[in-house]
Amino acid sequence: VLDRHARDGTRLVQILREVQDALGWLAPDTLTAIAQGVGRPRAQVEGTAGFYSFFHTRPLGEYRLLFSDNITDRMLGSHDLMRSLCHKLWLEPGRVSEDGRVSVDTTSCTGMCDQGPALLANYRAVTRLTPERIDDMVHLIRRRVSVGDWPSDWFHVDDNIRRRDVLLDHGLAPGAALAAALDRGPAGLLGEIERSALRGRGGAGFGSDIKWRSCRDAWGDAHYVICNADEGEPGTFKDRVLLSAFFDMVVDGMCIAGFAIGASKGFIYLRGEYRYLLDRLETRLAQRREAGLLGRNILGRGFTFDIEIHLGAGAYICGEESALIESLEGKPGKPRIRPPFPVTNGYLGQPTTVNNVETLALAALIAVKGGEWFRAIGTPASTGTKLLSVSGDVERPGIYEFPFGVTVAEVLQAAGGVDTQAVTTAGAAGFCLSAGEFGRRIAFEDVPTGGSIMVFGRSRDMFEVARNFTRFFAHESCGFCTPCRVGTAVNARLMDKLAHGRGSPYDLDEMEKMHRLMQGASHCGLGNTATIALRDMLARFRPAFERRLHSPDYEPAFDLDAALSQARQMTGRDDAGAHLTDNLSAQRAE
Ligand code: SF4
Repeated sequence: VLDRHARDGTRLVQILREVQDALGWLAPDTLTAIAQGVGRPRAQVEGTAGFYSFFHTRPLGEYRLLFSDNITDRMLGSHDLMRSLCHKLWLEPGRVSEDGRVSVDTTSCTGMCDQGPALLANYRAVTRLTPERIDDMVHLIRRRVSVGDWPSDWFHVDDNIRRRDVLLDHGLAPGAALAAALDRGPAGLLGEIERSALRGRGGAGFGSDIKWRSCRDAWGDAHYVICNADEGEPGTFKDRVLLSAFFDMVVDGMCIAGFAIGASKGFIYLRGEYRYLLDRLETRLAQRREAGLLGRNILGRGFTFDIEIHLGAGAYICGEESALIESLEGKPGKPRIRPPFPVTNGYLGQPTTVNNVETLALAALIAVKGGEWFRAIGTPASTGTKLLSVSGDVERPGIYEFPFGVTVAEVLQAAGGVDTQAVTTAGAAGFCLSAGEFGRRIAFEDVPTGGSIMVFGRSRDMFEVARNFTRFFAHESCGFCTPCRVGTAVNARLMDKLAHGRGSPYDLDEMEKMHRLMQGASHCGLGNTATIALRDMLARFRPAFERRLHSPDYEPAFDLDAALSQARQMTGRDDAGAHLTDNLSAQRAE
């Protein structure tokens, strides 16, 4: 493995993955050997191995099952299915079975929300779980059938494209956009991107022409293009479909970005959950090299550009561009201090443009059709179309392409949302709208979105939705800065406290305060946005929270009676008099 990666420390995440695949886990001696092999301190290699949730430094058995804990999978019964599987195999979630063969746990989201509930079996997605499928799985595990020999239809992933517009209906041949860009020349191409007013589709909406020009104008020994295919927002799966069904558009987009900024190398940072796509994408890149559409002297026009695929390892934070670059360099994916920005100091300190999969595919379309054509679609401030991943309580979950400016109500109507109570418009990190707001428009100037639209019907308990989101962020915070590390953990604990009937109005106030603090003081976008949906839900669905309160009056956040349980155990007393709450109630009654 080391030789295949030229003992290059920047390939550390890939090396760790491949070694783990071969040996089952990353033992201390293995980490030492890898550190020596790539010439990095052992502590650094151990730090990287410990950061990513798909790496394990203790044996977890030959079957590693991770059930998606995303709220839409939970709504489809994933938690009950996990409990059923654990019960049948005599297992506890989060632990390895006594014979050391099976481990079962949860993972934040598998990117299969349109065909859940789903799990990862040895990091391969199994979709459409049912009680019968779980029974069959138990049977196969008992018979020691390896995951590779499980029924192939269990691993089938549908694209579920429900509505096409200009991008999903483009009809361009592979390389057509590349040829058009070469004809236009770098300045002409940048001019078209500027005229199109294309904005990044990851959610922030930064102008693509500004990013590309800044990168092109920055001094460096080399320039790089990175395709951010690490979509990890709960409820989003649009990049999965673009990579699966429109990969040539994405590669053309990367090539033309390289042409515009003067780069000859690009990376696709592929989400670890989409590992099933890796071989297929590698094969397609090889075919393009043979066809003269990638590599040296592309289309015989003297332009050289090649692409490497880098597979992530289960860290949501790597969707943040500077964390993604750290990961590409073989380090834990912790966001960098900015400035400097990646466009001047990115991969290996060189000028780097990081673009979303959808942005690159749209850039390819603009190279052919022109900026004016694109600008006529959508709204003046949000040009073009947007891919929406719609999941939850709808009849037709899947991918919908709409021009910007479409209302939430129109999206719901297309997807078959009936009696909808709430919609989250950017996974766990964006607005949560209630029924009176469905006339609002999907656009950067009204409701911005990276593409995740999760729909909640009237029967859903919005408190449990919020609780799921707080757990997600507590798990995914990288721990680098205090407001986010502590704030996400405190919010998750407050929500658990409320869920167990021990909360007070003080706890609700605390969460509102935490929102203001984290939004203003966190180091990166994860912490800045982690409480937006929670804030919205507290404002719009407050009765769902208040129903959980132990008392409508103020009570101290610290549960002294619970904290004294250890003392009661030690003294062997558990009568009413040894309980603070009972004593207090008696005193109040008097
Ligand atoms: Fe890490 Fe959260 Fe701070 Fe971002 S905001 S750097 S994810 S701890």
